Amino acid sequence: MNAEKGMTSPEWHGGLYVHVPFCERKCSYCDFYSVENRSLVEDFLSAIEEEIRTSAERGRGMHVDTVYIGGGTPSVLTLPQMRRIVDALRCWHTIDPHAEFTIEVNPGTVTREALSEFRMLGCNRLSIGIQSFDDAELAFLERIHSADEARGCVADARAAGFENLSLDLITALPGQTVEGCVRSLEEAVALQPEHISAYTLIIEEHTPLFDRVKEGRVVPLDDARETQCYETTMAVLERAGFEHYEVSSFARPGRRSRHNSAYWNHTSYFGFGPSAHSFLWKGGDAQARRWANVRSIGAYCERLRVGQSPADQEETLTPDQLFDEAVFLGLRSDGLDMGVLEGLRAEGLTRRQRETLREICEAGLAFRDGERVRLTPKGYVLCDEICARLLVS
Ligand code: SF4
Repeated sequence: MNAEKGMTSPEWHGGLYVHVPFCERKCSYCDFYSVENRSLVEDFLSAIEEEIRTSAERGRGMHVDTVYIGGGTPSVLTLPQMRRIVDALRCWHTIDPHAEFTIEVNPGTVTREALSEFRMLGCNRLSIGIQSFDDAELAFLERIHSADEARGCVADARAAGFENLSLDLITALPGQTVEGCVRSLEEAVALQPEHISAYTLIIEEHTPLFDRVKEGRVVPLDDARETQCYETTMAVLERAGFEHYEVSSFARPGRRSRHNSAYWNHTSYFGFGPSAHSFLWKGGDAQARRWANVRSIGAYCERLRVGQSPADQEETLTPDQLFDEAVFLGLRSDGLDMGVLEGLRAEGLTRRQRETLREICEAGLAFRDGERVRLTPKGYVLCDEICARLLVS
């Protein structure tokens, strides 16, 4: 995470992310870029092969520790289609044989056979989008699967030999009671996954759910109930033996998501596919670069077809931007590493920032843990406000 470390490290480590922009049907709350129309799958595969090929030069020397195929719904692809992507990644990048390799699956789109095939591709971790174990809540979210199918998917994943499963849940749904929230959490825990991501529902603009809220047809939970759901989530999962290591992420010991942790630790990664983001900060380079691909599958395919970059915006991050990101990402996850922060800006922390840290520790929102300052559960609830107080720019 620090410039010096980046410049002197003999090995440059990083991750690869692939965004598969297709879904069987859009969910009401989702603002990820994906389309239901799959007529462009073949064009997308050719384009992504080309993007991966052209990234090889920039990624030369990068040792890949994590691969993540997400979306959208990667599990709508057939095995030969998925294989094309994985083959391209292996052909143009140096992937560690022990890399964490995750594929996101939607319980409504996979069979046990498909999951066994993912294993054959080298996938060793699944992230299963369950969201709720209540069929009425799943219908409200416009998920394509039932709670029973979600349970079946977990059983199928185990039968296919997966020893590392992450289950996604969404809490604080309109009308949800704390008891309802606990029921889904407890059911997830009972399935004994290695990891749970429990997100608080965010009503994103440009989604059907946002429109329904605006029209008064859906009433979101009030702040107090939402906070109660989040506090309950932390309590239930910590009691069940999960380590809370990021705002929404809970892991059994040793089972944190290595890929997501790398994002929060300023590790380099390439993101392939429409709307995917990349961040590169490689050994020997003082500058960190970030770019985002165009958010349109048609434009993405066309640009790669004619030999253009699919990147829409690219920027070099200033030391202050890197510092702010380290504050934001660190607070949300493994805590602020004071040594790293001071390495990012020559002048180190300002007096105001030191003062703020002292105040949040005294208020019981954070605590010192060696070189780090970590949030307490009370602090996680106020994470955004605390970040805002600590930022430089
Ligand atoms: S399946 Fe996932 S990516 Fe697709 S619309 Fe639903 S939430 Fe979004």
